[in-house]
Amino acid sequence: MELLFLILIISILFLIFFTKNKPNIVSEKSYYILGTLINLKVFGKESEKAIDEAIERLIDIDNKMSAFKESSEISKINKNAGIALQTVSNETFSLIDKSISYSELSEGAFDPTIRPLVSLWGIGTKSERVPTEIEINDNLKLVNYRDIILNKDDNSIGLKKQNQSIDLGGIAKGYAADEVVNIFLKHGIKSAIIDLGGNIFVLGNKNNESFWNVGIQNPFMPRGEHIGILSLKDKSIVTSGNYERFFIKDNKAFHHIIDPKTGYPSSSNVISATIISDNSIDGDGLSTGVYIMGLDKALDLIESIKGVDAIFITNDKNVFVTSGIRHNFKLSNTEFIYNNN
Ligand code: ADP
Ligand code: MG
Repeated sequence: MELLFLILIISILFLIFFTKNKPNIVSEKSYYILGTLINLKVFGKESEKAIDEAIERLIDIDNKMSAFKESSEISKINKNAGIALQTVSNETFSLIDKSISYSELSEGAFDPTIRPLVSLWGIGTKSERVPTEIEINDNLKLVNYRDIILNKDDNSIGLKKQNQSIDLGGIAKGYAADEVVNIFLKHGIKSAIIDLGGNIFVLGNKNNESFWNVGIQNPFMPRGEHIGILSLKDKSIVTSGNYERFFIKDNKAFHHIIDPKTGYPSSSNVISATIISDNSIDGDGLSTGVYIMGLDKALDLIESIKGVDAIFITNDKNVFVTSGIRHNFKLSNTEFIYNNN
């Protein structure tokens, strides 16, 4: 009898030990938020809870910052362009403020007031088309990040001219990814892969052992075909590419990253710009900007920023990798030429 009791106690203790230290509780969920497919894969005891909180946070960011939602703070600023400033939340205020610093850094290539041109082209929407020269010139006049008025005293933001409008599509996903990382860390998550429509953040190690492997998309091939692999932990990997969203008219492809100097989709020699950084907000802001700037300026800019690296692919299949990330990247597709300068 006593032996039976002892066995029972030992079994219960074993059970408690194993459920508490279950090595790999993993949760994976997909959603459609921020106009994109979100996939979160999280390891750890609180993975479910962490994902639920992250999703709530992403919906909140979308509601505040989407230019497509009538009631968002961005829409309110846009509706009041040339009329009045609009009080916004701290986070919207700081994201716009940060966007302006990326405009300055990229010499105006990244411009959050790009929306009139983005709407005119309508790429990825039912109304996508090649606009006339006149339409492009009229809308170009409205694009200028220097026309954003920021009033720190009451957190209000405005635009100087009527019909100007803000689009944070080039940076909001980066900010959102950082918010998800913070939530995961708060829940003690040590391993996760956060994918916000191709904006990737790899948290910790994969299965607590090896680095995460992230494929760099081949810009000439369908999604999922890679030119090589990046092996990393605790980094954001954000790519701006011509293959993300585009339409074809008269055998010519028109993609969704607009050069604020010309009003046309960027035609620099860079067709894919991947930024590797600690914070995804930096990766997102920079990837859109350097894509437009062209290879030489882009390489110089990224090499000058400490802790930020890049992989650029040019239209003639050359791959350029900045100095800090060369050990982590392996080019596997032999059609591409590796440049090490
Ligand atoms: P994606 O959103 O496809 O991952 P990006 O981060 O490069 O890629 O952002 C592209 C989006 O940014 C466009 O869909 C548009 O909303 C916006 N955008 C386009 N051109 C510019 C630009 N020159 N500056 C800032 N934002 C831009
Ligand atoms: Mg971007």
